[in-house]
Amino acid sequence: MTEPVGAASVDYAIDAYWERGWHGPAIVRVTPSSITVLPDAPTADHHNSGARHLPGVLLPGFRDSHVHLGLIEPRSLIAGGLAAVDDLGGDPGRLIEWASDNMVPALRYAGAFITAPGGYPATRAWAATLSVCEVSTPEQAIAVVAEQVAAGASLIKVTLNTDDGPVIADETLDAVVEYSHSRGCEVVAHAQGIGQAQRAFDAGVDRLAHTPWSERLDDALIETMAQSDPRFLGGRHSWVSTLDIHGYGQRGIDCDIASDNLRRFHLAGGIVRYGTDLGNGDLPPGLNQRELVALQDAGVRNDALLRALCLPSLGSTVSYLPTVPDADTDLAQWLMTATVLTAPELMRTR
Ligand SMILES: [Zn+2]
Repeated sequence: MTEPVGAASVDYAIDAYWERGWHGPAIVRVTPSSITVLPDAPTADHHNSGARHLPGVLLPGFRDSHVHLGLIEPRSLIAGGLAAVDDLGGDPGRLIEWASDNMVPALRYAGAFITAPGGYPATRAWAATLSVCEVSTPEQAIAVVAEQVAAGASLIKVTLNTDDGPVIADETLDAVVEYSHSRGCEVVAHAQGIGQAQRAFDAGVDRLAHTPWSERLDDALIETMAQSDPRFLGGRHSWVSTLDIHGYGQRGIDCDIASDNLRRFHLAGGIVRYGTDLGNGDLPPGLNQRELVALQDAGVRNDALLRALCLPSLGSTVSYLPTVPDADTDLAQWLMTATVLTAPELMRTR
């Protein structure tokens, strides 16, 4: 607050912001590469501070933690309200290009799906446009993980789907997890079929790509999954929601089972990530209000919903919403009014 304000930065007075919790009026300083709240700014009289009033609210950018850019138009997503995405299965050659395209949301990616010979999704038509590596030994699995890391992957995707073909053996799964962790990569699993969610968790898989829907997991397992555990790269196991893929608004039994599992995982303190499996079926190219509503219906509400959706901090890309929510605001509906703004765009707005 004592730094000189030159052409290199612009100050805005905003009505509120959310960063791990709600905060009232504040002054934010925008430089070409950062958007930061000024500490101890005299917020009570911010209209007299010389900062321009930007009516509304800033939130960290929104991330969809499960997309497939190879099945959609990646450049449509920023207009849809997304600042960041995790691609959980695609052609690493194309992903590396999208990662440097500033018209595409900030991207982390897994590269190829790793599966057993003939395993899911190797036989699916859409998998041909993505990339699938079929492995049958720990050595092959390690080589494939190394290829994805060399192509810029920071996540590794394995499929364990006993409803749809063979799955990799325990020793191969163990090799994927151990080697991925040694390279600093989180392992994400598509776990489908009875027992596969537990199997993924027991092997040290960091993240489930979908809330489990094949079975109602028992409370003891869910409690264990929700706790911190040093086997996981970040110390915590997490789930990506993807509730709306079950019926695309029609819900149904798979959605009910997933919702019940997610409600208990969240209540036990588990880390929930907003994610839609964008590219899979009839989903809107951007923020999905039905997914937000389904999360709320599973008890992931208010700050918990924003934690699932938002990047950790304001950073250099934010979500701007022109109105301030109150106690009666339907948060899911309100979030749909967000616009993605980068620091340079905010400077030009001035
Ligand atoms: Zn997917």
